[in-house]
Amino acid sequence: MPADTRNVFTVDLEEWFHVCGVGGALAPENWDRLPARVEQTTRTLLDLLDTIQVRATFFVVGWVGDRYPRLIETVLAGGHEIGSHGYHHARVYDLGPDAFRQDLRASIRALAAAGAARVTMFRAPEWSINDRSFWALQTLVEEGVTLDASMAPIKLVGAVTYPRHPHVRLTPAGPITEVPPLVVDRFRQVMPMGWGWGLRMSSPQRVLRAIDAVNRAGIPAVLMVHPWEFDPDPPRVRLPARLQFAHYFRLSGFRERLRDVLRGAPFGHIGDMAGVSLAE
Ligand SMILES: [Zn+2]
Repeated sequence: MPADTRNVFTVDLEEWFHVCGVGGALAPENWDRLPARVEQTTRTLLDLLDTIQVRATFFVVGWVGDRYPRLIETVLAGGHEIGSHGYHHARVYDLGPDAFRQDLRASIRALAAAGAARVTMFRAPEWSINDRSFWALQTLVEEGVTLDASMAPIKLVGAVTYPRHPHVRLTPAGPITEVPPLVVDRFRQVMPMGWGWGLRMSSPQRVLRAIDAVNRAGIPAVLMVHPWEFDPDPPRVRLPARLQFAHYFRLSGFRERLRDVLRGAPFGHIGDMAGVSLAE
């Protein structure tokens, strides 16, 4: 990999209760009454990034941007980039084409009002651009988005056949760059080494070996975390088993393990990905 090419560190900036498809106590109409944690947990993460001098790409939920414009200012002042993570943190295929476009526009407006002009990057909640919603890539291009980071090469939320490297996808409205998250093959399964339980359960040494392996193939490793993964005392709610695991598995010590990963390899935001060749 060229020396000026870095791995990519991304943050999906959302509240602990932004969980797709659960409803009930965590439905959007209740969000303003739930304990607010995002400001505190994001500041913990920003302090870590400041200490180790890593700039990241933050995909921000519009609802958060509307309520915490100062937090968005702080993210920008730290040299980080801002992209959209939707307004109501809804899955793209649940929204459908018209509601997706409205939700995307609302998120971009909210982020612009908070100081993030010209949002051109997007990540779908729960990696929800997949075979059920490829139409969304065209919508993104039509709304001024040039880079998407929503397609996970993993069965549960995407498909193992999706490319594992940054690449250009063609839509009727024009091209869009797709930047997938890091996965590895393990025990005949594809594992999310770069995010979620896969990142939290792995030792820093194992993650760094995986990053080194993809870097040797000329590919930047893309990591993703949420602010709520750094909450020392996260509010506990009952979730379906799969989500329970994704949300609460091995949070303890994660900040320290992540620090060791970020110190062990060169990381930057998506804008730093210069030198990466984009195969179609
Ligand atoms: Zn999310």
